[in-house]
Amino acid sequence: ALLITDECINCDVCEPECPNGAINQGDEIYVINPTLCTECVGHYETPQCVDVCPVDCIMTNPSHVETTDELQLKYQQLMKQT
Ligand code: SF4
Ligand code: SF4
Repeated sequence: ALLITDECINCDVCEPECPNGAINQGDEIYVINPTLCTECVGHYETPQCVDVCPVDCIMTNPSHVETTDELQLKYQQLMKQT
């Protein structure tokens, strides 16, 4: 999963781009729910939030480092729930 750092300027550009609805406005900055973020695996070739963020403040979440296979499995499980 990815993580938004405190360099976020709350521009709200990323939130509507997330195919998993993993991004929400937090108390101070935007936040990514790591259980919903597949790093866009299953939907797109590249992480859409990273592509649109004007200040490049989105990085890999060091507490949630996942392989492409794990992200693909998460994608499939999320699709089953909807
Ligand atoms: Fe959403 Fe993709 Fe960004 Fe993860 S990488 S928060 S799934 S847009
Ligand atoms: Fe924050 Fe970047 Fe999302 Fe804008 S696009 S809200 S700066 S994480």
